[in-house]
Amino acid sequence: MIDIQKIRNQFPVLKQQVYGKPLVYLDSAASTQKNIDVLLAERQVTLDFYGNIHRAAHFMADKTTQVFEASRDLTAQFIHAGSREEIIFTKGTTESVNLAAFSFGEAFIREGDEIIVSEMEHHSNIVPWQMTAQRKGARIVRWDFNEKGELELPELKRLINSRTRLIAVCHVSNVLGTINPVKEIAGLAHASGVTVFVDGAQAVQHIAVDVQELDADFYAFSSHKMYGPNGVGVLYGKRELLDAIPPYQGGGEMISEVSFSGTTYNELPYKFEAGTPHITGVAGFGAALAFLSKTRFADIEKHEKMLLEMATEELSKIGGVTIYGTSPRKSGVISFNMKGIHPYDAGMLLDKMGIAVRTGHHCADPVMEHFGIPGTVRASFAIYNTPEEVDRFIAAMKKIKEILAV
Ligand code: PLP
Repeated sequence: MIDIQKIRNQFPVLKQQVYGKPLVYLDSAASTQKNIDVLLAERQVTLDFYGNIHRAAHFMADKTTQVFEASRDLTAQFIHAGSREEIIFTKGTTESVNLAAFSFGEAFIREGDEIIVSEMEHHSNIVPWQMTAQRKGARIVRWDFNEKGELELPELKRLINSRTRLIAVCHVSNVLGTINPVKEIAGLAHASGVTVFVDGAQAVQHIAVDVQELDADFYAFSSHKMYGPNGVGVLYGKRELLDAIPPYQGGGEMISEVSFSGTTYNELPYKFEAGTPHITGVAGFGAALAFLSKTRFADIEKHEKMLLEMATEELSKIGGVTIYGTSPRKSGVISFNMKGIHPYDAGMLLDKMGIAVRTGHHCADPVMEHFGIPGTVRASFAIYNTPEEVDRFIAAMKKIKEILAV
C-alpha cells in the first residue's frame, strides 16, 4: 500500500495555493513535480564538492564523478539493463531519439529502406526518423492504431518486409495512455531482423520496465517525467548495437585519442557523451530513481489505475464527453473533449479553479488528425495524486459544462 500523505510531504510544491485554491496538479505527463531528495542531491553536489567529472585528478572532481557514475548504476538497475555501459546520459528523450536516429541511420539505413513509425508517437519519436529517412533516401511507413487507440500486431506483421530496418514505437502513449505490447512487437520485429526503438518517456514512472525482458534494442526516457530534474535523459541500447553505430556528437570525453591524422573514440558509454553533461541534474536523477525504487511498481500501478478508473467513470457520467484512448491496457492519462467546449477554454477555467491540466495537441498531431480534432484536454496522474483531487477535477468539469456548454 502507498502512504500518499507521506509521499506528498516529499513534494512541498503540492501544498501550494493557486488563485486562492489548493493546487490540483494533473499535468505530470508533461513534467512531474520534483521530490525534495532530488533538490537535496543537486544542492549537495553544488555546495559540497562540485567539480567537472572524469577529467581532473582532484578530490572534488573525484567525488562528483562517483555521484554521477552511481546514478548510471542506479539507472541500469532500474530498467534491468545488462550492463552500466548500455546507459547513455542525454538531455532527455528527444535527444535520445535524435542520437539513435542519427547514429543507427548512419550505420544501417540505406536508400530504399523503410522505418515503421506508429501513428500514436510524440513528435520527438517521428521527426528524427523523418530526418534520417530524408538524409538516407529511406521511407517512413505509418503503423495506424485502431479506434480504441491500440496498435495491432497483425497490422505490424503486414507492414514488415525485407526493406524494414527499424520500428519506432512508444511504450505508453502520452495522449491515449495505451500501454503497447513491446515484448510482442520486439518478437515480431526480431524474427525479421528488424531493430526496435522504444520511447519509454511515459512508461518508466508508471510501470515496471525490464529492457532485457522486453528485448528492446533501444529504450529512451526523461528524468523530468519521473520526479527528477529537467535536462537529463537516458538512452539505453544493447551493447552490440551501441558498439556498431558511430558517435552522434564529437568533442571532449567521447574520444580516446585525437590527432590531426585521425581520432579514435572512447569506449561505451562515453563514446556517446560528448562534452560536460548536466552533472548536478544526473545526481538529482539518481535521487529520483532512489525515491521511485522505494515503492513497489505493483502499488504505483494499482494507485494510478484507481485514479484513472475513477476519473474515467465520473467523466463519462457527465454527458457529452468523448474520451480518446479506451484500451483496457492503459496508464494514468485521460484525454477528452466536452461537446461544444474548446479544450483551451476548459483548460483556462480549470486553471482558475486551481487545477492544472494540459490542453492542445500534446505534440502528437497525427493522433489529433486520426480523430479529426484540434486538441484535447489531458489530465494525467502520478504517484502523489489523490481521489479527493479527482473529485475536485470532476466537480470543476461539471461546473465548466454549466458555464460553457451550448
Ligand atoms: N515521448 C513522449 C511519449 C513524451 O510524452 C514526451 C514528452 O512529453 C517526449 C517523448 C519528449 O520528452 P522530452 O521533452 O523530455 O525530450
